[in-house]
Amino acid sequence: MTLFASLFSSGKDRKDSIRGNYKPKKKHPAGSSRYTLRQSLKNNLAGGTLIKDSVICPEGEDENEWIAMNTIECYNTMNMCYSFIQEFCTENSCPQMTGAKATYLWTDGKGKPQELSAPKYIDNLTNWINDQIDNPSVFPVDDSDFPKNFRSVISKIISRMLRVYAHIYHAHWDHVKNLKVDKHTNTSLKHLQYFAEHFNLIGEKDISVMKHVFDTL
Ligand SMILES: [Zn+2]
Repeated sequence: MTLFASLFSSGKDRKDSIRGNYKPKKKHPAGSSRYTLRQSLKNNLAGGTLIKDSVICPEGEDENEWIAMNTIECYNTMNMCYSFIQEFCTENSCPQMTGAKATYLWTDGKGKPQELSAPKYIDNLTNWINDQIDNPSVFPVDDSDFPKNFRSVISKIISRMLRVYAHIYHAHWDHVKNLKVDKHTNTSLKHLQYFAEHFNLIGEKDISVMKHVFDTL
């Protein structure tokens, strides 16, 4: 099994290597098209398909369903990558949400942007993404249409996921290396990058913030 394919397995080995507070999104319901698409992604990867080819929507499939499924998968792997180093990311060690190129302020779109510690920021961020994924008017669970702003919501989700990676690479890379999860982390980010680039779901600003990391993957 390739390294990337192993990210999609839920076997004992992976569970044992996961630390911290890993809470994956519920699985795609059996029988749903997202479930079938995930199986197809998993089978391709187990068969050795390259990551950059694996993000292409299979012919005849609904592109929005494919994007929805990949977004949830990227969210789960991002959560897993953060859980590896979560015990080192505390109010004391990370009083600010730092990346290499920026310190991020949290905004819920209502009040003034707030400076939060990285763990609090990431907690808010994952709750926000969870809310989007659980909202059937954004991620339809039956045959309903996807909303008109679906891709702009996905872009926002991706932009926020990239901030978690920005923090991991900037503040916790030594921890990642010591735990020997650097390949998993790089592979997870690479999937997110190829997926986002393929469907134009990543803005110039996010690319420039992450370019120094993307270039090393
Ligand atoms: Zn941290």
